[in-house]
Amino acid sequence: MANDEVDDHLVARRTFAAAVAFMAAQPGGPERTLALHRRRPDGYCTGCVHTLAHWPCTVARIALCAVAGHN
Ligand SMILES: [Zn+2]
Repeated sequence: MANDEVDDHLVARRTFAAAVAFMAAQPGGPERTLALHRRRPDGYCTGCVHTLAHWPCTVARIALCAVAGHN
C-alpha cells in the first residue's frame, strides 16, 4: 500500500515536470498561459471558468515553473 502511494507521488511529480518542460519549450508558451490564467480579485483563476479553480491553478503553476526555469 505504502509503495503504491510513493509511486503515485513520483508519477505525479514526473508528469508535472514533463508538462513544465513541454510548456517551457513553446515560444511564449508560459507567458500566453499566464495571460489567460490570471488571479481574480476573489482569488479564483480567470482562465478556469468551467471548473472554478483557486489561483494558481494547475496550468498556471506549470507556467510559473516554466517561467522560473525549473521543474
Ligand atoms: Zn487556470
